[in-house]
Amino acid sequence: LSDKLSAVFDKLTRRGALNEADVNEALREIRRALLEADVALDVVRSFSDKVRDRAVGAGVIKSVSPGQMVVKIVNDVLIETLGETAQPIDLAARPPVAIMMVGLQGAGKTTTTAKIAKRLKERHDKRVLMASLDVKRPAAQEQLAVLGRQVEVDTLPIEPNQTPLQIARRAMEAARLQGYDVVMLDTAGRTHIDEPLMQEMADIKSYANPHETLLVADSLTGQDAVNLAKNFDERVGLSGIVLTRMDGDGRGGAALSMRYVTGKPIKLIGTGEKMDALDEFSPSRIANRILGMGDIVALVEKAAAAIDAEEARKTAARMAKGKFDLQDLCDQLAQVEKIGGLGGMMDLLPGVGKMKDQLAKANLDDKVIKRQRAIILSMTPQERRNPDLLKASRKKRIAAGSGMKVEDINKLLKQHRQMADLMKSFGAGKRGGLMGKAAQ
Ligand code: GDP
Ligand code: MG
Repeated sequence: LSDKLSAVFDKLTRRGALNEADVNEALREIRRALLEADVALDVVRSFSDKVRDRAVGAGVIKSVSPGQMVVKIVNDVLIETLGETAQPIDLAARPPVAIMMVGLQGAGKTTTTAKIAKRLKERHDKRVLMASLDVKRPAAQEQLAVLGRQVEVDTLPIEPNQTPLQIARRAMEAARLQGYDVVMLDTAGRTHIDEPLMQEMADIKSYANPHETLLVADSLTGQDAVNLAKNFDERVGLSGIVLTRMDGDGRGGAALSMRYVTGKPIKLIGTGEKMDALDEFSPSRIANRILGMGDIVALVEKAAAAIDAEEARKTAARMAKGKFDLQDLCDQLAQVEKIGGLGGMMDLLPGVGKMKDQLAKANLDDKVIKRQRAIILSMTPQERRNPDLLKASRKKRIAAGSGMKVEDINKLLKQHRQMADLMKSFGAGKRGGLMGKAAQ
């Protein structure tokens, strides 16, 4: 796939803004990548619409190909959609805090229950009680008890012939009486979603009133992921999702599908059968995996770095020519703001440490940059190109337009003159001088 994509990107060499044809061409390959990653069809469609909206008309920087630009946008939207920050298990409620695990049979509920319990005990110093409400599968309760002994977390003693609801009640009561912080309710699954399962889950939920209701889903869940998540969310109500078997070759498209339809965060991922194989969810890592291109992040970062470097190079080229009118100053101030202030810009240019001090002397600190831009933006294009036009009446008009005083405008003009002189002395000075080099 990577090759196919690069082939498309190589073709997209036009400069300027991304047009619809560029974007559509790149999106065709990206849609294929998403489908291969098992992202649900509906989600692929609306996701690519979202990318198209953002991408068409977006600028392409000279050193970046339109294809790379689309990749950056796809990656950005993917990470945004997956949720940018990791969301931990929420325990902010009066103990005993119930956590209910739901999902299909074999998804990894019981295993994940024990993994989470272990983590809460070890990292958060919580007293945890686990209870299996699975009365369907033979030995399901025994399975949790075995895992409990392994991770040294208590499990509710098994009593025969109880309904899931009765077990839940016993678990909550035991937790209250014995001062547990957290009760983990491991429920039964089915091989597919059916009404009795949903009813059972809804009943348990309304009785136990869990603070977290986590859907445990296999990362290999393909087109069913949407139905699965939607059903559980609508009937039971979810607070988050745990994606298991991310150690396998699942591409994690289910994460995007489920997040997209429910809006619920992916809280954790299971990465193996061992009790420590539980990771925080990392949107960028999953985005990487879904797109199926190991080098995607590197590509994106390179593109982003290229954007800044390109702008800095343009600025340096103007400086080197000794050409520096108010419009240049305005552009440069905008750029300076974008790349993290004057210090950030100077860091991008080789050998200009000296200039930092000079600019500091010229009193151009980051706080005044916004105001200075406001002043310049109130000028006509001619005035920006030719500051000599600025006589008293024009200054008054500009002051009114930008909400500043005439004296602020004079200050700006003086600074501009100082800077222009400085640029000249650096640029037009020796051949191959500092700024000349930076501009090459
Ligand atoms: P449940 O029916 O939802 O309770 O599923 P189980 O917790 O019993 O898990 C079913 C199988 O999946 C077990 O053999 C687990 O060891 C395995 N399993 C669960 N989570 C993971 C995971 O993240 N990675 C791998 N490789 N196996 C897992
Ligand atoms: Mg189970």
